[in-house]
Amino acid sequence: MSKDWDQGTKAVHAGSKRSQYGEVSEAIFMTQGFVYDTAEAAEARFESAGPDEFIYARYGNPTVAMFEERIAALEGAEDAFATASGMAAVNGAMMSVLKAGDHVVSARALFGSCLYIAEEILPRFGVEVTFVDGSDLSAWETAIRPDTRAVFFESLSNPALELVDIEAVAKLAHGQDALVICDNVFATPVYSHAIAQGVDLVIYSATKHIDGQGRALGGVILGSRELIRKTIEPYMKHTGGSMSPFTAWIMLKGLETMRLRVREQTATAAYLASALEDHPQLSRVIYPGSPSHPQHALAMAQMGAGGTMLAIEVKGGKEGAYKFLNACKIGLISNNLGDAKTILTPPAFTTHQRLPQEQKDALGITPGLVRISVGLEDADDLLADFTQALLD
Ligand SMILES: *Cc1c(COP(=O)(O)O)cnc(C)c1O
Repeated sequence: MSKDWDQGTKAVHAGSKRSQYGEVSEAIFMTQGFVYDTAEAAEARFESAGPDEFIYARYGNPTVAMFEERIAALEGAEDAFATASGMAAVNGAMMSVLKAGDHVVSARALFGSCLYIAEEILPRFGVEVTFVDGSDLSAWETAIRPDTRAVFFESLSNPALELVDIEAVAKLAHGQDALVICDNVFATPVYSHAIAQGVDLVIYSATKHIDGQGRALGGVILGSRELIRKTIEPYMKHTGGSMSPFTAWIMLKGLETMRLRVREQTATAAYLASALEDHPQLSRVIYPGSPSHPQHALAMAQMGAGGTMLAIEVKGGKEGAYKFLNACKIGLISNNLGDAKTILTPPAFTTHQRLPQEQKDALGITPGLVRISVGLEDADDLLADFTQALLD
């Protein structure tokens, strides 16, 4: 692979390893173990395994290694460790770098399970977590202290689509020698410049746009070779959160078409956001790619596009939102995202149901809010479906 290759070329070639058969499509090495020619070879492998030498699939596997190399090339990261799910990646990144007595600053607007780790698990192990409004730079500045070991945020938050200024927060964190851990799922690897913007560990739930067809759970942690191999790998390989070779194969093939899919989904999301903006049945349309988004300029500077997710607030609260959801014929009521199929989610009553009302209010999760993960259907079909579903 050449470093000069464009992302599109890397997406289909980076990381490929061919067996003696010279297969075109990547092979699935569905094996947990590897045979050594001699006892001496086994000893040598355990002492120090080379890049193409494997010991046990929890430590590494050829198909998984192909996925790790390909996603690292796309992200512009030195290395990657593939995980069983997005949450295995978030948990692994946190637990690998933190210890009792450390302090973490986290954005408040988080995916439910990320919030559970930051709010429930880390304090149990003596890690103090301060939550801030991720879009407020002065809040980050006040909260980051000399004993802050890491900052954590979703660069584009779920479901209210608020941005964190990655470069500015990374500068503040690095000023105190804190690591920057970014859950970059909503930005997608296609629009990510997270490493260049100062992130030390980038996390994706591969379940989302990387698979892109709703088949398998997976995740990945990306960063410097030093951090990935010396800090992340020992924790992950000994605690069991590694990716299955079959999943790695699904994700590898997903990467080949990811840019095409994400660009198409983004174009449709932008079209829908603009067409629905003044709809009389909607009190808000939230899309980072729309000039009406309060952080539109930051979105364009940081990602260069608005992404595949939008949110609408239907008038009439829960009743209005449910009427809309139940009347949609194309969009599916579900909670995955980044799928080829358009997915509609009422966060207040599903993904964020457990949150107390005041927390929902602080995060903009109103009863009428519907999160839309835009799929690959025809844009005009989707618009016609939403429009008929909003008629009363
Ligand atoms: C889905 C998601 C996760 C968790 O990923 P899984 O693959 O479901 O474990 C973490 N963060 C964000 C922002 C997500 O959307």
